[in-house]
Amino acid sequence: MTAQALFAPAMVRALELAQNGPERGINPRVGCVLVDSSGTIVADGWHQGSGTPHAEVMALTGLRDKGISAAGLTAVVTLEPCAHTGKTGPCATALIDAGIARVVFSVSDPGVGSGGGAEILRSAGIDVVSGVEEVAGREGQAVDHDQMGDVAGWPSCRSRWHEPVDHRPRNQAPGASGSIPS
Ligand SMILES: [Zn+2]
Repeated sequence: MTAQALFAPAMVRALELAQNGPERGINPRVGCVLVDSSGTIVADGWHQGSGTPHAEVMALTGLRDKGISAAGLTAVVTLEPCAHTGKTGPCATALIDAGIARVVFSVSDPGVGSGGGAEILRSAGIDVVSGVEEVAGREGQAVDHDQMGDVAGWPSCRSRWHEPVDHRPRNQAPGASGSIPS
């Protein structure tokens, strides 16, 4: 079984949790579940809006409250764990410090300041799998692009997140000759 298929059910749950976040906001909606080697979800979290702990940190805190060690667990997150220190610390570092063994995420973080979490995780020896349920992950973020406008750290997100998801060539209009009929 591919990693994509193996972690898809946990990712679907993480995507559901992400929907608990604010409907529109300057931060994307993010959900996170921590799963053990048998695939059982042992903790979860979601991002509740700007200035609050990120989904990964909420899940790790919940785990700690239950007295369960994060060592050897897999973190399944809808968005690449962030690398920047803003109102909260970087999630990539929090996951490393907790002893998480593997990180599976859906969508790469396009933020200039916040992206790069996967690299940090990999260089710490953590197994990183990306692109699980990616189309659903993009649709679930519900980022308010108008509000986000000039927020520092997100200057590149507009173009990235406005890419068509139907795999039509970028410069081809809908219905133009040559497009695959749907
Ligand atoms: Zn984060």
